[in-house]
Amino acid sequence: MTDPVYLDCNATTRPSTPVIEEMLDCLRGAWGNPSSTHGPGQAARRVLADARTRVATFLGCTGAELVFTSGATEANHMALLGALELRLRPGTTAHDGPTGRARRRLVISSVEHAASLALAERLRARGQPVDLIPVNRNGELDLDAAAAVIRDDVALVSVMGANNETGVLMPTQELAALAHAAGAPLHVDATQLVGKTTLRFDASGADLWSVSAHKLGGPKGVGALVVRKGLAWPALFSGRQERVRRGGTENLAGIVGFAAAAELTGRTLAMDIAHMRGLQARLESGLRRACPDVHVHGAAAARLPNTTCLRFGTLDADQVLGKLESAGVVASSGAACSASGSQPSHVLVAMGESTLHARAGVRFSTCRDTSTDDIDHAVAAAARVLAPLLQEPQRQPVLP
Ligand code: PMP
Repeated sequence: MTDPVYLDCNATTRPSTPVIEEMLDCLRGAWGNPSSTHGPGQAARRVLADARTRVATFLGCTGAELVFTSGATEANHMALLGALELRLRPGTTAHDGPTGRARRRLVISSVEHAASLALAERLRARGQPVDLIPVNRNGELDLDAAAAVIRDDVALVSVMGANNETGVLMPTQELAALAHAAGAPLHVDATQLVGKTTLRFDASGADLWSVSAHKLGGPKGVGALVVRKGLAWPALFSGRQERVRRGGTENLAGIVGFAAAAELTGRTLAMDIAHMRGLQARLESGLRRACPDVHVHGAAAARLPNTTCLRFGTLDADQVLGKLESAGVVASSGAACSASGSQPSHVLVAMGESTLHARAGVRFSTCRDTSTDDIDHAVAAAARVLAPLLQEPQRQPVLP
């Protein structure tokens, strides 16, 4: 059986051979504990230091600003929970606003990653005030609404740099200005930005950045929270590792895989972005030609070069994905982590789409390995298996 055309790179990417080779070398050679003082430990420590430098160089931060985690979910938790712990600490002045009021409020967007929204919901159930900034029909953040809630009682402003479902970019520079004017730090979930834009941490205006290795050709289960120099951020896990900011023996092979993937991504980034932008245009125009009633979500907004979220009329996403997979093409409905099928995408609902349209949202996402042949194959598959369904008179399903 041949591999399907893989158009789900926002869910995860396939690690390349050099990444796998470096990880295997690390598992075989640098198996010591980087905290041990003996030879094998010190050898592992040197490998860790080298990998830290490589990841930091790619992201545009210093090695000291990098806290390795188990991925972006953990980094996002560390950002949100850390902000709440920080404001409770006696003697902490970093967040004291001009009026000296207690900083209790979290401000996040309504289209954050499902895990971050779930955390915010749990905190809110315990009495934590959380403001959700809405988005418009294009998926763009409402900056006026943001300005209205970002006041001097805010502990943290947290938004994703680019939405994982629609690819719509968030105005992080403007949010940084609003947050900083109110004396609050800005956290950006940069998981989908990295490897798809040239933005680097040092130029981003953000104080904290979450990243994940498996979105850019690295292994799953490793990522980082970048913490701007001078910001003392509380740990989620106690322990001595990562300068006491993240306890637990380091996932060294994972971190080495992250470094290898980061370096490979950085080497051809500008070219890859142009390549993915071309594929995006080819896919969207091809699908529009092949099928009637194709609607691209966020088409009018500034978007990532690799992401297309659309609906084929009102065909249910599960039906579309099943048909496409039978024709050798895999994509996803919304975020892989919440793609249970029956739930409409919270992102599309936040954009004002009806439940019917939100259930029809299908996401295609490419990476640098995707070829024009892959795109042509996907368009031909859609013409073969989806266009006939769209030409049938569309029945309006009765919704509960
Ligand atoms: N944030 C965003 C924007 C994501 O797309 C993802 C991955 N779906 C995550 C966070 C979670 O990343 P990880 O798999 O590393 O926990």
